[in-house]
Amino acid sequence: MMPVVALVGRPNVGKSTLFNRLTRTRDALVADFPGLTRDRKYGRSKVGEHEFIVVDTGGIDGTEEGIETKMAEQSLAAIDEADVVLFLVDARAGLTVADEAIAQHLRSNEKPVFLVANKTDGIDADSACGEFYALGLGEIHQIAAAQNRGISALIYRALEPF
Ligand code: GDP
Ligand code: MG
Repeated sequence: MMPVVALVGRPNVGKSTLFNRLTRTRDALVADFPGLTRDRKYGRSKVGEHEFIVVDTGGIDGTEEGIETKMAEQSLAAIDEADVVLFLVDARAGLTVADEAIAQHLRSNEKPVFLVANKTDGIDADSACGEFYALGLGEIHQIAAAQNRGISALIYRALEPF
C-alpha cells in the first residue's frame, strides 16, 4: 500500500500549490482568496524513490460556520486516513489563532506530523519561522511551494519510515 500524505492547514497557506507541485498537475485550484478547495482531492506523487498518495484539503480555521464546517470535516477526515500529516503554515503571515487551533488538534492525535512553513521565498525565513516553535510540534521544515524549494527534502524526511 502506498503511504497517504495529507496536506492540512488554514486556508491560503499554499496547500493546493504544494499539491500541484507534488502531483505535477494543476488539478487543485490555487486562489488568492481562502476556501476554494472544499472537498478532499487525491493525487499520486513520486519524489525520488518515494511513491505516495497526496490529499489536498480545504483548510480549517477554527471558527467554522456553514460551508466552512464541511471544509473542516474534510480536513479532519483527511487526517484520520493519512499515514503522515504535513501541517502547513504561512511564513509571511506568521502565527495565527487558526494555526494554534489546528496544532492543538494535531498534538492530541497519534499521527506523525511535520510542521511546514511555506512561502519562505524572499524573506528572512529563519527569523520569520521562529514563532512557529510555539505550536509545540518541533522542527520547522521551510519550503516555498511556488518556487519548488525544500519539497524533496521534506518528502524524504516525512516518508523515511515508509
Ligand atoms: P490553500 O488555500 O492553502 O490551498 O493555498 P493556495 O495553494 O491556493 O495558495 C494561496 C496563495 O499563496 C496563492 O496566491 C499562491 O500563489 C500563494 N503561494 C503558495 N505558495 C507560495 C510560496 O511558496 N511563496 C509565495 N510567495 N506565495 C505562495
Ligand atoms: Mg486550496
